[in-house]
Amino acid sequence: MLMEKERIEIAEYGRKMSSSGLSKGTSGNISIYDPETGYMAISPSGLDYFSTQPEDIVVMDLKNNIIDGTRKPSSEHGLHTVMYQNKPEARAAVHTHSTFCTTISCLNMPLRAVHYVIGGAGVPEVPCAEYATFGTMELAENVEKVIGKSKAVLLANHGLVTCGPTLAKAFGLAVNVEFVAEMQWRASCMGNPVVLSNAEMDVVMESFKSYGQPSKAGEKKDGTGY
Ligand code: 13P
Ligand code: ZN
Repeated sequence: MLMEKERIEIAEYGRKMSSSGLSKGTSGNISIYDPETGYMAISPSGLDYFSTQPEDIVVMDLKNNIIDGTRKPSSEHGLHTVMYQNKPEARAAVHTHSTFCTTISCLNMPLRAVHYVIGGAGVPEVPCAEYATFGTMELAENVEKVIGKSKAVLLANHGLVTCGPTLAKAFGLAVNVEFVAEMQWRASCMGNPVVLSNAEMDVVMESFKSYGQPSKAGEKKDGTGY
């Protein structure tokens, strides 16, 4: 099976995304990109995460062609494609309808540095892309317009998309960005949240480069912190 390891991992993370509550029902989608072949493995459209098997994952190129698989690919394959086209270091992307990110996105607001872990996105503020219908190239293009240096983008009235050097990192970023969104919402309910300065966020992002255990020989640290 083409991209077997990646298909197994996507099926596993789909279950994780569902059981962690980051996505409800069949919402959200996951992909892994292989720069050597130029192919991405992506979750199928509208299939229950708990019944999704590795062979249900679809392999596509970045020109909308299906290379392998019998299922219809995620309706957001264009969104995932745009992530890889704009982030040469990205090897995985995760899209969720997580509750607090979606709440902030319904206000068409960016996520602010109300908590330092936002630094995992590589920017002090996570932008919110303008609304467009799900599964359209217009939505993907709206993300492209605002992504800049960020590894995460809110989708107005819809949700969140993240990317990372591994699926574990892209998923972890989605978890942390959801936490920041919850803090922004909770703090806004009580008053005016204090937002960390860009200078402080530069310090945080620098510290993230050495956060955690030292790299093993040959292992690349990506500096994204958590
Ligand atoms: P798919 O089931 O087609 O991946 O779509 C879910 C979704 O979240 C669309 O934005
Ligand atoms: Zn969606």
